[in-house]
Amino acid sequence: MGFTSNLCLWITFCLHLCCFINTGKAQNAKEVILLDSKAQQTEMEWISSPPSGWEEISGLDENYTPIRTYQVCQVMEPNQNNWLRTNWIEKGDAQRIFVELKFTLRDCNSLPGVVGTCKETFNLYYQETDSEVGRNIRENQYVKIDTIAADESFTQGDLGERKMKLNTEVRIIGPLSRRGFYLAFQDVGACIALVSVKVYYKKCWSIIENLATFPDTVTGSEFSSLVEVEGMCVSDAEEEADNSPKMHCSAEGEWLVPIGKCICKAGFHQKGDACEPCGRGFYKSSSQDLQCSRCPAHSYNDREGSWRCDCEDGYYRALSDPPSVACTRPPSAPQNLVYNINQTTVSLEWSPPADTGGRNDVTYRIMCRRCSWEPEECVPCGGNVGYSPQQAGLVDTYVSVVDLLAHANYTFEVEAVNGVSDLSRTQRLFAAVSVATSQAAPSQVSEVIKERVQQRSIQLSWQEPELPNGVITEYEIKYYEKDRIYSTVKSRSTSATVNNLKPSTAYVFQIRAFTAAGYGTFGPRVEVTTKEEASGTSLVMHTHTHNAFCLGSLRDEELYFQFKFPGTKTYIDPETYEDPNRAVHQFAKELDASCIKIERVIGAGEFGEVCSGRLKLPGKRDTSVAIKTLKVGYSEKQRRDFLCEASIMGQFDHPNVVHLEGVVTRGKPVMIVIEYMENGSLDAFLRKHDGQFTVIQLVGMLRGIAAGMRYLSDMGYVHRDLAARNILVNSNLVCKVSDFGLSRVIDDDPEAVYTTTGGKIPVRWTAMEAIQYRKFTSASDVWSYGIVMWEVMSYGERPYWDMSNQDVIKAIEEGYRLPAPMDCPPGLHQLMLDCWQKERADRPKFDQIVGILDKMIRNPNTLKTPVGTCTRPISPLLDQSTPDFAAFRSVGEWLDAIKMERYRDNFTAAGYSSLESVARMSIEDVMSLGITLVGHQKKIMSSIQTMRAQMLHLHGTGIQV
Ligand code: AMP
Repeated sequence: MGFTSNLCLWITFCLHLCCFINTGKAQNAKEVILLDSKAQQTEMEWISSPPSGWEEISGLDENYTPIRTYQVCQVMEPNQNNWLRTNWIEKGDAQRIFVELKFTLRDCNSLPGVVGTCKETFNLYYQETDSEVGRNIRENQYVKIDTIAADESFTQGDLGERKMKLNTEVRIIGPLSRRGFYLAFQDVGACIALVSVKVYYKKCWSIIENLATFPDTVTGSEFSSLVEVEGMCVSDAEEEADNSPKMHCSAEGEWLVPIGKCICKAGFHQKGDACEPCGRGFYKSSSQDLQCSRCPAHSYNDREGSWRCDCEDGYYRALSDPPSVACTRPPSAPQNLVYNINQTTVSLEWSPPADTGGRNDVTYRIMCRRCSWEPEECVPCGGNVGYSPQQAGLVDTYVSVVDLLAHANYTFEVEAVNGVSDLSRTQRLFAAVSVATSQAAPSQVSEVIKERVQQRSIQLSWQEPELPNGVITEYEIKYYEKDRIYSTVKSRSTSATVNNLKPSTAYVFQIRAFTAAGYGTFGPRVEVTTKEEASGTSLVMHTHTHNAFCLGSLRDEELYFQFKFPGTKTYIDPETYEDPNRAVHQFAKELDASCIKIERVIGAGEFGEVCSGRLKLPGKRDTSVAIKTLKVGYSEKQRRDFLCEASIMGQFDHPNVVHLEGVVTRGKPVMIVIEYMENGSLDAFLRKHDGQFTVIQLVGMLRGIAAGMRYLSDMGYVHRDLAARNILVNSNLVCKVSDFGLSRVIDDDPEAVYTTTGGKIPVRWTAMEAIQYRKFTSASDVWSYGIVMWEVMSYGERPYWDMSNQDVIKAIEEGYRLPAPMDCPPGLHQLMLDCWQKERADRPKFDQIVGILDKMIRNPNTLKTPVGTCTRPISPLLDQSTPDFAAFRSVGEWLDAIKMERYRDNFTAAGYSSLESVARMSIEDVMSLGITLVGHQKKIMSSIQTMRAQMLHLHGTGIQV
């Protein structure tokens, strides 16, 4: 009895113990019944052994429901052993089996005369088998489950009535390993009625928990064990990452300890234990989100179960945009774009676009294009152009574009971009400006090479700057001893030798280039140390110290001023002086050598080197000068001839005649100091800048030369060697006549050749009469001037090209003349032809030439070259062999010859009585005669032109334009 109570206590205790993990789903516990005697309506036919023991009896339960029971009551006989065995029970999935017994038991005390034999308990057994095993009960094959005692027994007639006390006992068996089992009840002498036997096992019912389905699950075999079960997500749900759903089925058939969960997939949301699709116009982008949301601005969807909404037309989502943000579009164009040009830098500024497209990631990018004057011919600027702070991704509304080409046209487009600009296929919106850069100084001279380093000189060479931004006419080389004042020398080429340096001394050099736009910035410093002094040697140039202060000029200066212009403008031939030294000092100022600083050699003259340098006269600013030196070991005649040039030059004072600064005759070397002409001689200068000047610039040069020549001819000076090579050009493109001498004029000119008359003459430049009988006059200078015009207009072409001197003389004698150079205005060629009149009296005077050129400069229209009329001819000379208009004695004869006699009266009425006057006619003149037929106009004009050419070339008419 005590044992039974303990067992019950223990069960109760355990149920309580398990409660703390109960999810409250105990109602889901499912009992699966394997045997229920109460449900049996027919005989059960259990085996009773011996047959006199347990017997099957029909009865009524407490509710008076008919039931089948087994009873035994052999209390009177000792040593009872009555077995009752159930039918075979298949266990199914069960591991732990519950056996519930309901029974009544008579109290032995209530049975008189049974003392000693009556029992108040019975035993419960089971036997596992895989199948039914016959009807014999082999006691030893049964395993005892428990001795069952009644909590309540009943006594017959206690209170004069039958009192029925039903006991319920539950026992658990397991774990079971065979397919089935039998239960057996052993009675050892009690009075028992087995009212019902129920055998069952427990299951956890299928359940949906946290959107996961858990199937029906049989409890574990042990009383305390929990069966772990994996859940399956309901449709349109998925397991939460790293948190798969699990539950535990307890021995009592209760679901305990849920772990993990499922969540509705994107596009679905939870409704009860299921996932439902988001409705139209809603979306859910992730399983993590709980609810479906309405589509953000400028997006839509027309399907259920969407994970995102699509953008409306023209709206986009950047890759990084989450589905929850509104769709956006590219910004509008930036506003108020303005620019500023500083040489080759263009600064752009603008205001933000009116519409940012709904985003706050607007930046700007610049598109640079270089354009020819035709707007459709623009090409991207490429990598040489720099952008500050950068070209794209600009946060601020400004940028500087640097390193553009000077004098170039550019278009800049400023585009506002945001995160969706590159997705949009609509047209780009930008603000644009077209900009023309201004002229700019050249960029830096950066690579300087030491060519030759000596004791007192250093030769450097360098590369032209990367961006010359124009024609480099000069380089300036600045140099200095460390911590000293600097000096400069200039060079027209990309190399220079700096002289008069100290031996073993470190010098720093910097070079910059010069164009019409001014100086570029100096390049990096280059340090060079001169060589050590070799004992005892000293260069000639060294005698001219670097500067110091000038000691002043000598007293000859007074003499010079006294006699320079004796009131007459006539040139005095130095040869007329008995003492050439006196002549020199009459016309040239004697300079102190210490005032002169020689810097570098720039050319070779007949008598010695020509150098450039500086002259610093007391009280005056120092100036650049050219210094002609007389080489050592000269003869007295050479000295005289050398100084002769100074004696001549010293008499001249005109802006277009090279100016003499003075001479050094009292020291060595003997020097003639002349104003410095930065661009050197005109022929080389033009060749170097072929095609780079405007016609007006070229005519300006010609005008200067003509003015210089007018001055010289007014002075009565005949140059005899006027040629482009003897014209010097300064930095302002001013041309000045140079190279004066007497006999040496011819001697030192490499162009001069001996003619049959015995003299040495520059044939191509010289008038016929000078070649033939040495008749040199200002008129022969005019001829030479015509050749200079031709040289200038053809940018230094050699007159008569490669014809031999003999052929040139022959051609000229036959009446041939040089044709117009390419792009030469006809008026200028006409003037050349006039200068080449055979009769020198027919040639214009320099005064007239200056007048004609001035007129042209004032009326640039007269210099316009009719397109296609003036190409550089391949044929050498104008052919003069067409019909001889000299044969016509009158206008009438001429009109007859060209079959236009019908217009004779028209010509007469208008006053065209001579062929000369006809030759001057223009097309307008012809039309004004009333000649209206175009074919006739053309015929007459073409004949006039031929006539005019013949007249000019063969006879000379003095016609001027
Ligand atoms: P010349 O002996 O006068 O023919 O001079 C020889 C060369 O020295 C010329 O071809 C010029 O290149 C140069 N030259 C002469 N005089 C000057 C000057 N005043 N300024 C610059 N270069 C000059």
